[in-house]
Amino acid sequence: MTQHAHRMVRHALERRTIEVLSTKRVTAHMQRIIFGGEQLRGFLSAAADDHVKLFFPNPEGELVLPTLGPNGPEFPAGVSPSPMRDYTPREYDAKRCELIVDFVLHGDGPASTWAEQATPGQKIGLGGPRGSFIVADDFDQFVLVGDETALPAIGRRLDELPASARAYVLVEIPEKADRQPLGSQAEFEVVWLERDGVEAAQSDLLERALRQLPELPGDTFYWIAAESRRVRDMRRYLAEERDIPKDWIRATGYWKADGTDDDED
Ligand SMILES: Cc1cc2nc3c(=O)[nH]c(=O)nc-3n(C[C@H](O)[C@H](O)[C@H](O)COP(=O)(O)OP(=O)(O)OC[C@H]3O[C@@H](n4cnc5c(N)ncnc54)[C@H](O)[C@@H]3O)c2cc1C
Repeated sequence: MTQHAHRMVRHALERRTIEVLSTKRVTAHMQRIIFGGEQLRGFLSAAADDHVKLFFPNPEGELVLPTLGPNGPEFPAGVSPSPMRDYTPREYDAKRCELIVDFVLHGDGPASTWAEQATPGQKIGLGGPRGSFIVADDFDQFVLVGDETALPAIGRRLDELPASARAYVLVEIPEKADRQPLGSQAEFEVVWLERDGVEAAQSDLLERALRQLPELPGDTFYWIAAESRRVRDMRRYLAEERDIPKDWIRATGYWKADGTDDDED
């Protein structure tokens, strides 16, 4: 039986201040921001679903970043800390020291609100990535499932798959105007699922599409990211109803409908 040995690579924790170089509305609900700055030198992101912590200005408009204390990150006393959220490094150009992050504009929230108004010259904080999960490359195919917050990681995974790979992609988006061009040297098929007014946390388009996916020949790696409850349900379906081995599934809640923070693997 093939091994499918995944690897976890740890990185030294670095904290950086980065500056908006330019912004572009790539689709109806996706704001692309290119960040630059000398502090990006040495930035390393080794896996398609890496994440960084981004620190946004606090309600007073100041960047208040943590320092590393004996018990982990510590914010200075007496000031509001900068809100921090997880984002995917969509692309990093080491020569130019430029990092692309694609932000979903979902409405109110420190990250989404900041991304919508971002203009060149503004600064935010960045930490990580702390680690990279390198998926074994000897699967027969990859099934990539996610909502719009997963699109940066899915797009990057497709960019990085070798020509010998095959991928089936299920992406749920708010509306048709959120479709974006995806490319790969691998053979791949994308199914765009449009919610058209249904709330992201209430939709079941991904779940239904996953259930309709035919049995695939050989070994398949499943990658899933979306709202946390929905991710849990899809992981359970694969494990319990399809008997997919645990190590062949990587399912991560990218956001929670009740707004609390959640990272699960
Ligand atoms: C590993 C990882 C990688 C991620 N990569 C990306 C990425 O590259 N691009 C990206 O856009 N997001 C990404 N996310 C998701 C992003 O971190 C969350 O959507 C985050 O909650 C947004 O923060 P906020 O300050 O805008 O809203 P919050 O303050 O966190 O939430 C405010 C309200 O908005 C709701 N909410 C949050 N996100 C959404 C959403 N997407 N749709 C609808 N309602 C929402 C919450 O339930 C809450 O009610 C990633 C998450 C993880 C864990």
